[in-house]
Amino acid sequence: MTRTIRPLVAGNWKMNGLKADLAIATEVAKGYDTGMKAAVDLAICPPATLLYLASAALLGSRIATGGQDCSTQDSGAFTGETSAVMLADTGATFAIVGHSERRTLHGETSATVKDKAQAAQKALLVPIVCVGETRDEREAGKAVAIVKKQLRGSIPDGSTAATLVVAYEPVWAIGTGLTPTAADVAEMHEAIRNELGRLLGKVTAAGVRLLYGGSVKPSNAAELMNVANVDGALVGGASLKAEDFLGIARACA
Ligand code: PEP
Repeated sequence: MTRTIRPLVAGNWKMNGLKADLAIATEVAKGYDTGMKAAVDLAICPPATLLYLASAALLGSRIATGGQDCSTQDSGAFTGETSAVMLADTGATFAIVGHSERRTLHGETSATVKDKAQAAQKALLVPIVCVGETRDEREAGKAVAIVKKQLRGSIPDGSTAATLVVAYEPVWAIGTGLTPTAADVAEMHEAIRNELGRLLGKVTAAGVRLLYGGSVKPSNAAELMNVANVDGALVGGASLKAEDFLGIARACA
């Protein structure tokens, strides 16, 4: 398949990683060879505690870093929160927002996700806006409608191809080893592209990177990454092993 959009493979370490685990990031940097650099962008999103160190360790590697969430606010009396401005100050250039674990465990609505994505863009971070249906919603035949509704609620007005990444992550595929069929991914990614067209205009929508996420591994990456309108991957578990993460990146390249 000839790609018109440069793909992105982003690793979401979730709440995993101590200082010693920065070795994973440096291993990835070592394996990110000239051929891969020519074909695929990489980003690593470690926990906030490691973000500054990870950004420093990856300086000059052309591997970006990102936060896993950000506050809707820039600063102030918001104990425990990390603002997009603070993430940017560490050297990060991305922020994952609306991950299903945030939507489910922290009750984040699409309106909150939109505010977070806007805060990220204001701080010159690119938000990776996550959307995805639950197993019940898919079994009820509502997957596409649910994801389109999440998009309408979560995407900041005026987003451009350079300031937005969307990740389709079926909730039932995250961390389970299950993946949708290539046909289901194709249907969903086409629907997302079309919905972004309605929200942002067709020209903008055509350039937005649409990542697939949910149990991506080196063994299934080639099939998933070759689906039309899939412009990379958001990787959880497999991003904690440099060789697996690089294997996925290779499949994408
Ligand atoms: C994720 O949490 O964003 C994710 C895709 O997880 P996993 O790859 O482990 O399914």
